[in-house]
Amino acid sequence: MYRRCRVCEGELREFVDLGRQPTANGFLRPEETDGEYFFRLAAGICTDCAMAQLLDEVPQERRYHGGYRYHASGSAGHRKHFEENALRLLETELTGPDPFIVEIGCNDGVMLSTIARAGVRHLGVEPSTNVAELARARGVDVLTEFFDERTAAGIRSRHGAADVVFGANTICHIAHAASLLRGVDALLAPGGVFVFEEPYLGTITERTAFDQIYDEHVFYFSVTSVRAMAERHGFELVDAERIPLHGGEIRYTLARPGARVPSHAVQELLAEERERGLSDPATLGRFRDRVERVRKDLVTLLRDLRAQGKRVVGYGAPGKSTTVTNYCGIGPDLVPFVCDSTPSKQGHLVPGSHLPVLPPEAFSDPYPDYALLFAWNHADEIMAKERAFRQGGGRWILYVPEVRIV
Ligand SMILES: [Zn+2]
Repeated sequence: MYRRCRVCEGELREFVDLGRQPTANGFLRPEETDGEYFFRLAAGICTDCAMAQLLDEVPQERRYHGGYRYHASGSAGHRKHFEENALRLLETELTGPDPFIVEIGCNDGVMLSTIARAGVRHLGVEPSTNVAELARARGVDVLTEFFDERTAAGIRSRHGAADVVFGANTICHIAHAASLLRGVDALLAPGGVFVFEEPYLGTITERTAFDQIYDEHVFYFSVTSVRAMAERHGFELVDAERIPLHGGEIRYTLARPGARVPSHAVQELLAEERERGLSDPATLGRFRDRVERVRKDLVTLLRDLRAQGKRVVGYGAPGKSTTVTNYCGIGPDLVPFVCDSTPSKQGHLVPGSHLPVLPPEAFSDPYPDYALLFAWNHADEIMAKERAFRQGGGRWILYVPEVRIV
């Protein structure tokens, strides 16, 4: 267990404990449940630099491999978001005579495929070989490695300096933060930028989105903690922008000191975090209390519905569903199955809680009385698609920020 901050070696103070948990994307076949891997999922905050992070850590080789099941292109909203990201970078940053962009954790090429189509030099660094293959099939150049300072030095010597280093929902996955930032430093051109968008501690605590906490998310960034981390490694935080992805994230832009004029948004968000007391023990204690409340309410509701003979099924099996089902002790006795459109999850079980994952067709065959929406960050997209379920009398159960039926 970590007692010292991975960024600054300061003291870590625990603020939430979600108990014994498997790896969130470790979907397994019914015959593979013996010897399933578990660890204690608990997060703490650094009393010096305010970086929130996991106390225990799952080795990265256990998280990213040939069977990695998160496909970034799985949702239409995500595809649109990343295409817009790519177009924006092409317009604002990749404008020189022969620009070069590196993406850390390019997944299935959801962002870089647009860059590749524009004919711009690029390289995705992606340790999970199966999703890297999908990216290659979209015309994206991929290096199947973990990103660290050694990988970065190799890229620099082969391809030259990068104008942009980009990451989306991957930078917070990398436990070796110091090596990562030294790598970005080695790779980035003097006027280049390091842009990354990640889950926001402020959203997680404000919305009680505790299911964003799982093994892959080693860090829970805030503007305060990212600025401290940037300065420690010779960078300046020059922009911070709220984006709606995954329920509310922040896109950070780091540059070399003096290379860019910092935006007002950085100071505004820093002031907002101070006012809210985002890193204060009292704020984090209230978050923990609300998390426990959600568990009690959700389990009570599911037991009541079962007692009334109602049928409840799960909708969507994102990594988040592992956290909530294991933390709340929701097994197939309460939710007999969950449907998900990702083919590689179908026929498998949700890690730890062992809810069977069925294809989307199972949802309407016949419709259940209630659907527990695990993929709540796609609620609008899903509810629009499943209008017939609601019109036929079906009801959605949501649990973020609190348990409710809609
Ligand atoms: Zn620290």
